[in-house]
Amino acid sequence: MSQEVRVRFAPSPTGPLHMGGVRTALYNYLFARRHGGKMILRIEDTDSQRFVEGAEEYIIESLKWCGIEIDEGVGVGGPHAPYRQSERREIYLKYAKQLVEAGWAYYAFDTSEELDALRKEAEAKGETFAYNYSVREKLPTSLSLPKEEVEARIARGDIWVVRFKMPENEIVEMDDLIRGHVKVNTSTLDDKVLYKSADALPTYHLANIVDDHLMEISHVIRGEEWLPSLPLHYLLYKAFGWQDSQPQFAHLPLLLKPTGGGKLSKRDGDKMGFPVFPLFWKSPATGETAHGYREDGYFAEAFVNMLALLGWNPGTEQELFSMQELIEGFSLDRVSKSGARFQPDKAKWFNAQYMHRKTDEELAELFQPILKEHGVEVSDELAGKAAGIMKERATFITDLWDLTSYFFVAPTEYEEKQTKKYWKGENPARLREVREVLASIDDFSKENTEAVVGGWIQEKEYGMGQIMNTLRLALVGAGKGPGMYDVTAFIGKEECLKRIDAILTNLKPVE
Ligand code: GLU
Repeated sequence: MSQEVRVRFAPSPTGPLHMGGVRTALYNYLFARRHGGKMILRIEDTDSQRFVEGAEEYIIESLKWCGIEIDEGVGVGGPHAPYRQSERREIYLKYAKQLVEAGWAYYAFDTSEELDALRKEAEAKGETFAYNYSVREKLPTSLSLPKEEVEARIARGDIWVVRFKMPENEIVEMDDLIRGHVKVNTSTLDDKVLYKSADALPTYHLANIVDDHLMEISHVIRGEEWLPSLPLHYLLYKAFGWQDSQPQFAHLPLLLKPTGGGKLSKRDGDKMGFPVFPLFWKSPATGETAHGYREDGYFAEAFVNMLALLGWNPGTEQELFSMQELIEGFSLDRVSKSGARFQPDKAKWFNAQYMHRKTDEELAELFQPILKEHGVEVSDELAGKAAGIMKERATFITDLWDLTSYFFVAPTEYEEKQTKKYWKGENPARLREVREVLASIDDFSKENTEAVVGGWIQEKEYGMGQIMNTLRLALVGAGKGPGMYDVTAFIGKEECLKRIDAILTNLKPVE
């Protein structure tokens, strides 16, 4: 690519960032890194009505958690600062006026009551009201009112907006890097508001185009929901005379519900028990909360890996990708046009894969706080070892306690089903014999214990299953756990004998 790649993630702080938004940020980031370009974070907060406190911090924290680095933007700074649109408000009026002067836009003085009345009137006739070429010269606008009147209204502080003067019956031809060539007839589009005097702020469309231009954005990679705005954006570049430096566009496919139809929503997550947001969220206004991948125990790397493959495919069978591998493999021409169905089980699968690949040291660090919560104080070495033995059966770090607690605490009760099955007949007496065999072993390593006990069972011609399951009941208190000799080696001789003595003393054999 000859031109410097500069992409931006431009969220509006209207609530917690949806995982679809995180994917948009991720694809921008991968694209930027792939091409040695810059990743910019711009906060589009010009809609004061929808502003939600804490949302910006949430967005920044989410990106950080995912490992999506920002080169320029809010929280980082850069040559085009400020990057928060509310702090750039004085920039936009000039551009709105420039469009009016060039005949590409006009002032409109309708009050919201008047607009409501027009909408109702159309509805009554079974139509939908559109502010467009058919009405703009009949309504109170700078196209219908005399120049002096327009100036007088503005001077006396009447409320006005600037609207784009969408041409009538023209074809706009656009190129999208994912969707290809797209054509739209302008008569199907309305005259969007670009600027509002009421709050002295631009709307999304104006601020977005002006900033993409001023910030020298080379590629706009964003969600499919913005595709209908593309003709207006093309025309805005034309109206400003910026076509030559206009960015290239790529509209990403939607994330679909697990059931297939429609956009993935918070409601789907609540219903089916999976998060749709990266982090836990609590609304400062309503106190309403939402689950987050981070707090639900997902690893950031697993979440990012899963998201990357929702809409992009590497063209190979490979499923596990580090961020670096994603950067090396990512390209927009492998992003699909059709929506990507989110599968909660697949998210869990990714997490389990990352769990299985963690070293004992990494696991120890993650597991220690949980052990402490259960009052277990052990070395990192033992915490990591226990987790390492059982990680293949875990999806989340929180699964580890259930899977390994018997390594750290002796059973205080015995599972009923296992007791009924094994704590009867000859088994308690056999366990007494096993105790003696174990007591005679000095080298309590897994291999040696297995050789000695195994050899003894064979020699005696006892049933291996009966003995092992009885021993398991004594040491674990249940039918779960790894290989028996992993347990004996881990807890050691003294603790083994203690647990055997405990069951022999405390648990009455089943008749
Ligand atoms: N502020 C818009 C959003 O929240 C940005 C859309 C765009 O990237 O142009 O999605």
